[in-house]
Amino acid sequence: MLQGFGRSRREAEDDRAVGSRPGPAREARAVTAPAPAAMRSVRCPFCEAPFEVSIKAINGRCPKCTRPMRFEDAELNGLCNQNVTTMGTVRIGRKGVVRGRIECGALVVSGQLDGTIRINGCCIVQPRGVLRGEIAARSMMIERGASFEGSVEIGGKDAARPAA
Ligand SMILES: [Zn+2]
Repeated sequence: MLQGFGRSRREAEDDRAVGSRPGPAREARAVTAPAPAAMRSVRCPFCEAPFEVSIKAINGRCPKCTRPMRFEDAELNGLCNQNVTTMGTVRIGRKGVVRGRIECGALVVSGQLDGTIRINGCCIVQPRGVLRGEIAARSMMIERGASFEGSVEIGGKDAARPAA
């Protein structure tokens, strides 16, 4: 009991030394509500409304148009034909050879992906990643050593809309 208390004390001091948070916040943890959960910024694919959900949320509804959607992250590996719709991050692993229609919040390609892809956020093709197809994204980053072949539309509706 005493030992346990001493240890948590020391942890709290370590935290203070690192300068992460002031001490009292740490001590309040046990008594009151947990620290605010990390949030994920998403944009509704139907009505374009931006909103935030907890990164732990798996599915839910758009607060504006109330349409249901998924928020979980997905990682695809191996050879597969797969269609994925989520407002979370889709990763194509190093060994992934994926063909399909993907709509997601963010895309990270480390393997091969061939398809029709709409990304409501950023598309990243990492070194040795191969991306082919019709891509629509808000932003795109092709790293050195990666390859991309196909068409790409960057910016989405916001960019295309004339200034009011
Ligand atoms: Zn909506």
